[in-house]
Amino acid sequence: MSAWHLVFDGLDPGAEGRREALCTLGNGYLATRGAAPESTADGVHYPATYLAGVFNALTTPVAGRQVKNESIVNVPNWLPVTFRFAGGPWFGETDSPVISHRQELDLLRGVLTRATTLMDPEGRRLEITQRRFVSMRDPHLAALETTLLTPGWAGRLDIRSGIDGTVRNSGVARYAELDNLHLAQLGTSRRDDVVHLEVETNQSHIRICQAARTRLFREGRRLDCDTELVEGDGHIALQFSVDVAEGQQTVVEKVVSIFTSRDSGISEPSQAACDSADTAAGFEQLLERHQVSWRHLWDRARIQLDGDDGVGNGNGNGVSQALNLNVFHLLQTVSNNTVDLDAGVPARGLHGEAYRGHIFWDELFVLPFLNLRLPQLTRALLLYRSRRLDQARRNATEAGYRGAMFPWQSASSGREETQTMHLNPVSGRWLLDASHLQRHVNAAVAYNTWHYFRATGDREFLRFRGAEIILEIARFWAALATYDPALDRYEIKGVMGPDEYHDAYPDRSEPGLDNNAYTNVMAVWCLCRAEDALNALPSAPALDLKQQLQITDTELELWNDISHKMRLCFHDGVISQFEGYERLAELDFDAYRTKYGDISRLDRILEGEGDSTNRYRVAKQPDVTMLFYLMPAEEITGLLERLGYPPEDELIARCIKYYEARTVHGSTLSRVVHAWIHARTDGRESWELFKEAVRADIDDVQGGTTKEGIHLGAMAGTVDLVQRCYAGVEVLHDRLRVSPRIPAELGRLRFSVMYRETRIDLDLTPGLVRARIDPDAPDPVTIDVADTVIVGLPGEEIEVRLDRITDA
Ligand code: BGC
Repeated sequence: MSAWHLVFDGLDPGAEGRREALCTLGNGYLATRGAAPESTADGVHYPATYLAGVFNALTTPVAGRQVKNESIVNVPNWLPVTFRFAGGPWFGETDSPVISHRQELDLLRGVLTRATTLMDPEGRRLEITQRRFVSMRDPHLAALETTLLTPGWAGRLDIRSGIDGTVRNSGVARYAELDNLHLAQLGTSRRDDVVHLEVETNQSHIRICQAARTRLFREGRRLDCDTELVEGDGHIALQFSVDVAEGQQTVVEKVVSIFTSRDSGISEPSQAACDSADTAAGFEQLLERHQVSWRHLWDRARIQLDGDDGVGNGNGNGVSQALNLNVFHLLQTVSNNTVDLDAGVPARGLHGEAYRGHIFWDELFVLPFLNLRLPQLTRALLLYRSRRLDQARRNATEAGYRGAMFPWQSASSGREETQTMHLNPVSGRWLLDASHLQRHVNAAVAYNTWHYFRATGDREFLRFRGAEIILEIARFWAALATYDPALDRYEIKGVMGPDEYHDAYPDRSEPGLDNNAYTNVMAVWCLCRAEDALNALPSAPALDLKQQLQITDTELELWNDISHKMRLCFHDGVISQFEGYERLAELDFDAYRTKYGDISRLDRILEGEGDSTNRYRVAKQPDVTMLFYLMPAEEITGLLERLGYPPEDELIARCIKYYEARTVHGSTLSRVVHAWIHARTDGRESWELFKEAVRADIDDVQGGTTKEGIHLGAMAGTVDLVQRCYAGVEVLHDRLRVSPRIPAELGRLRFSVMYRETRIDLDLTPGLVRARIDPDAPDPVTIDVADTVIVGLPGEEIEVRLDRITDA
């Protein structure tokens, strides 16, 4: 094991799904799970390829209702390459006689290698080495090279390489009862060594075209051999027969091109796919281009830890490897190739079908990291929201509100895509799902928009896209809030906070809770930012925008009033998660732990017992405490004071202690937040939580969910935690603050950030901050280290001890 490699030795059917998800290769346009090329979806393997933003909706009758679900589509499988000893069964078709197997993911280069040795009943050995990549440089291209070696025998080998369009979405067992056939076959064709397969999604009518070029080589030279076309309904392949001499190597090179009718810059996708496969360079050249792109990406995105020489896992705790893996999967899901697309941040990456590829609030954990690394990517991902602003307005109107209401789960159109029913696998019951009431997703959209602007100073974006999003969200919050004259307070009723274990009052038939503290405070935050956004624009564009959106001074006064009088509830000296929280019962956590062991999915356990989490003071994940994650103490204190609830001593600490004791971490996001909020006060606790959070997918802490897709929010959140929390790199309104509190276990941290178009290389050790300003910086940058403000000039190297300051 090294910091840059993920290695799996031997076959382990029980762990195969997790390996496939972790070994997924992607480039922000497409991603393919790390399944064996000869495998099919058989309950152990799940070869699948997903394309960013390609969704399709199907309706299925479930529990007496018509349930419509829009899902990311598993598109035709481009991997198939298999072989047989002439006359024998195809590898993968029967239980193959594997005598050794090793799979290695190279995170630095984005290459998956597999080495397998087979031996047939006659004792003939076949050594297979496969390398594959999904090109970071050429987003439509992927390649798979198979080297076959026959030690100790000579004879005939058949090799088959093709595309399988007969795939379905069957990657998540819980969704098995739902219709899963998304593709209609449009046809196949062959041109020399290129086969082509074309399908169309049966509701969204997206044409997806794949072309695969297969060539055989021996000792670097093209091999001329018998070739046969194998075609059937929904699949096409070329079959080659070759004579092999003892100890001879045969190389099968497959280069695949994928285009869809959503792509720009082409006349039509099948022509584009065939032309591109036909004219693509060979494996090595494509690989070289791909590796250059990864090198550049790592240069921008990497975090180096103490003792991590880039090869070995210097600090011995697996953190380097986990951080690299997390950055790797983040950049495979969204990358520079996404910038030109209309795609959001899918919660489970492009790695599996859990949550149907939907886009939630999780970008709150993703975009802050990207703001300081690849801000052009954040901008592109915010445009996914901006393009759906009109739909968000319609969502609001349909629900009876003004402004824009972004959906809890978003996919192609920006309509609400949250499932209306979900299956509890513990009880086997289908249950109504009210999670769409998580209106706080709107605060996440506004938060990301504002923080992108803060990190980049991109006024053009604010003027033409960002401010409108923030203003329309503010307007929505103002519409959702109702005024209680007796209290002289505004209230938000009938919503859900981030803690999904509370979606209703035990004694109320309608779902939804009143005065969820997180929602109310974030609504106030948005209303304040709406004012800031207008003030940040020059007066003429600000006026234009007000006129376009018909924002009157009376409306602004209302927003201001709400931002001073939003209601919060308190009990037992803490902020109540929602009104009436104190009436809930305490749960006997020890008893449940003794009975069930892992109680992170208490919702399923209790429902299985005919009970409900709604009755208890339990939380799936942070809710009140999310506020302390998103805002520094002074900011949250300021908001509480503004609301007329000046925090008494230790309010924040009390809230953290109170809610943490009742949180079971049913979401991988949960430990990220807890690690963060402990960082300033309890470094040990923070580090322990961080270690679990950073390896959540490698260790599959949820006991089997990783195979359904990585948890992108947690992956990115842990990297962001190192950058913004432990390294303390924070964008303030006019400066970049660096105030590290690095856990001893991390030692030294080195990484680069992009701040207002300037690259700053940071080297942080306890007690010492070194910053190197890019010589090509357009302007000096203001950096604040431990409250000492330095104006760094282009090319300058600054060295700051925490007790004194020197220019190096
Ligand atoms: C969490 C949500 C999250 C979603 C997608 C759920 O389990 O509770 O906060 O947005 O997963 O990652």
